[in-house]
Amino acid sequence: MKLAVLPGDGIGKEIVAQAVKVLDVLKGEGAGIEMEYGHIGGAGYDAEGDPLPETTLKLSREADAVLLGAVGGPQYDKLDRPLRPERGLLRIRKELNLFANLRPALLYPELAGASSLKPEVVAGLDIMIVRELTGDVYFGQPRGIEMRVGPNGQGERVGFNTMIYSESEVRRVAHVAFGIALKRGRRLCSVEKANVLECSELWRDVVAEVAKEYPEVELSSLYVDNAAMQLVRNPKQFDVIVTGNIFGDILSDQASMLSGSIGMLPSASLDEHNKGMYEPIHGSAPDIAGRDIANPLATILSVAMMYRYTFADAATADRIETAVKKVIAQGYRTGDIWTEGTNRVSCSAMGDAVVAAM
Ligand code: NAD
Repeated sequence: MKLAVLPGDGIGKEIVAQAVKVLDVLKGEGAGIEMEYGHIGGAGYDAEGDPLPETTLKLSREADAVLLGAVGGPQYDKLDRPLRPERGLLRIRKELNLFANLRPALLYPELAGASSLKPEVVAGLDIMIVRELTGDVYFGQPRGIEMRVGPNGQGERVGFNTMIYSESEVRRVAHVAFGIALKRGRRLCSVEKANVLECSELWRDVVAEVAKEYPEVELSSLYVDNAAMQLVRNPKQFDVIVTGNIFGDILSDQASMLSGSIGMLPSASLDEHNKGMYEPIHGSAPDIAGRDIANPLATILSVAMMYRYTFADAATADRIETAVKKVIAQGYRTGDIWTEGTNRVSCSAMGDAVVAAM
């Protein structure tokens, strides 16, 4: 298995180093894993003048899977937009055609106290959000900021983006979501804003058409504002949620807090052949970078997802997830999930604990 490892910026290097420890265990046991490192984000700009250098793209295209840390940092915020770290991330998703982003939100019982909601509301939470990742307002053209004539006849700046989905884009992500729902609780909720947006109206129609091919799955639809409310009112009503790029971006961050910390949540971004890029859902956390205090579990759990979805090796995925459950049960906590009476550990000590549990 060829793996492109792209640590990126901020805490990216620290958390990816812990995930690599887990991969090294498997390698030591004989798994054929080849890891090759590349630059992305600010690190790509610093090293090669591009947030997605050609070398990184080539490495990622040739790999079976990509393991990514995070990108971004305040020192890059004044760069021209195409040179900013986040553009590198958007481009790699688009270039590798990673249209289906899987974001589980799962609450470990021991972390119920770290959730911002009441323990009884979140206990046993297990949601999978399937977010479309290569379309929508993030990529739609035209986009820009330009001068137009304002109401008083004077020129003023307007900013604009285009929300756009084609039938085929909706259909392929709907198939992924129905397929996942089939293997879980067989309930799928499609989230859009069809009462206001034509783009959402098409989304709703196409998802309903695809539903006919999955009679075992119960399909429901919610407007995104209601879905946001339901996610905090009664999150356990959801099994799988499928939604577009921008709504999924917001809802999955919201769902992450239900589970205690953004530092716990992995993600997978898949193409049509289950080639994937695996990364934690959080960013580069510049506020805590370089201090060895970040939570590496989201990145380690991203390796588990890599085994489950790209390498179709559920046993190894289960083994990594079980090791994470074990260290949580043993009371190991990084600062973001620490509560009174538990054992506060560094990022690297958490990585070591997972390795020991494996
Ligand atoms: P962030 O996710 O980096 O951080 C939000 C908060 O969560 C911070 O307080 C941070 O310390 C904390 N946090 C995040 N991950 C953590 C972890 N593993 N352990 C403990 N605490 C953790 O989001 P932000 O502050 O809005 O953005 C910072 C930078 O990251 C920006 O440049 C942004 O563009 C970028 N970003 C990148 C990605 C990505 O690479 N996928 C995603 C979101 C934001």
